[in-house]
Amino acid sequence: MTALSRRHFIATSAAVSASLAAPMVRGQGRPRVVVVGGGSGGATAARYIAKDSQGAIDVTLIEPQRTYFTCYFSNLYIGGFQDYDDLGHSYGKLASEYGINVVHDWAIGVDRDAKTVALAGGGSVPYDRLILSPGIDFKDGAIPGWDLAAQNAMPHAYKGGTQAQLLKAQIMAMPEGGTYAMVAPPNPYRCPPGPYERISMVAHALTQMNPTAKILIVDPKEKYSKQALFEEGWQKHYAGMVERIGPDFGGDKVEVRPDAMEVVVDGVVEKVDVCNVIPAQKAGRIAELADLTNEEGWAPVVPATMQSREDENIHVLGDASQQGDMPKSGYSANSQAKVAAMAVRGALTDSRVFPAKFSNTCWSLIATEDGVKVGASYEATEEKIAKTSGFISNTGEDAALRKATYEESLGWYAGITTDMFG
Ligand SMILES: Cc1cc2nc3c(=O)[nH]c(=O)nc-3n(C[C@H](O)[C@H](O)[C@H](O)COP(=O)(O)OP(=O)(O)OC[C@H]3O[C@@H](n4cnc5c(N)ncnc54)[C@H](O)[C@@H]3O)c2cc1C
Repeated sequence: MTALSRRHFIATSAAVSASLAAPMVRGQGRPRVVVVGGGSGGATAARYIAKDSQGAIDVTLIEPQRTYFTCYFSNLYIGGFQDYDDLGHSYGKLASEYGINVVHDWAIGVDRDAKTVALAGGGSVPYDRLILSPGIDFKDGAIPGWDLAAQNAMPHAYKGGTQAQLLKAQIMAMPEGGTYAMVAPPNPYRCPPGPYERISMVAHALTQMNPTAKILIVDPKEKYSKQALFEEGWQKHYAGMVERIGPDFGGDKVEVRPDAMEVVVDGVVEKVDVCNVIPAQKAGRIAELADLTNEEGWAPVVPATMQSREDENIHVLGDASQQGDMPKSGYSANSQAKVAAMAVRGALTDSRVFPAKFSNTCWSLIATEDGVKVGASYEATEEKIAKTSGFISNTGEDAALRKATYEESLGWYAGITTDMFG
């Protein structure tokens, strides 16, 4: 894309409306949509475009993994409430029932002028519209002493899959009365309540098998999602087990030593048995390689369509996008995917485009059948996806309501995974 056309696109969102209103004029072939990343955003978008266009659009999904293991409910797996295999979902139906061309490979580059995506295995795939939903990567050097080479000693377990198994195995092998430490991430990051739900599930597992063990949270943030609900729950179910060091006591000045299993907090050395390091995050690298990210490492988007602010032919979904008020969650990515799918169909065929509406709910399990939630509705403004109304569980709720909230989360998991994979 030339500098002139890029400036023109950024200058006015009217350009976006115009491009959506005018279906592409094309030759013989069907319009081609390529989706990079088969997670919460990408699998949903691919499925909705294929399903709703009824064969009018050619959809290719590029995803290296043959099975997608959800991050959601990986904490419940650590707590012993879910089996690992139940977190895995296959792309089989997307290929066989929805006619999506599923390519198991890494996208390693995007040529925005030629409109092609390069694959690690060689070759490239052409597109008329590209959807990127690559999730997160970690910021280099965010935690002194930690890099990807250290993830076997100090796992992040913050992308789906084997890291969650490793973290669980390490927790199971902790010595009696040992210490589990978590280095929590700074904002913004994937799943705001995720680290604290994890603390709850680790505490639950330790209470069963190692009740004198300790949990230490080293946290750079002043406050965090659902804090009052988590603190109440930890006091009620795991009294004396969890200690949090916030920035007022040096939680923002941390270094780790994976070889020695040490966490150094503001110069004070803590010897630990398990160390779960969740580093600062940025958009999945392919968004950066496509030159769509800003200084903070995220890809800014036009809220009404999820189109990149840098390229009207590319939509960015989910955690990788910088969109405004929505938290980086699977629910959000799934909601954004449906808006993007409608916009893409509107641009490539003559289908109707309705005003964008978004929603999110994040459930967390604190202890057996003790579930809490936070959620909101959103609309697209020129500037951002803006929150219009919200709700949150209350402290002091009775057991029946907490059980119902947990059961609601089980229904949500079944629903979203069917919505993604058919
Ligand atoms: C512990 C934990 C608990 C969570 N709990 C919840 C919850 O309860 N509710 C909730 O809504 N959300 C939850 N989340 C957040 C949720 O997992 C993410 O927000 C969501 O998955 C983001 O969707 P996405 O499409 O942006 O990325 P992902 O779902 O991560 O999908 C990205 C996909 O892109 C692929 N990919 C990356 N780069 C490339 C490339 N170059 N080429 C091809 N493919 C590529 C990856 O393999 C991956 O499959 C949780 C997260 C964690 C870590």
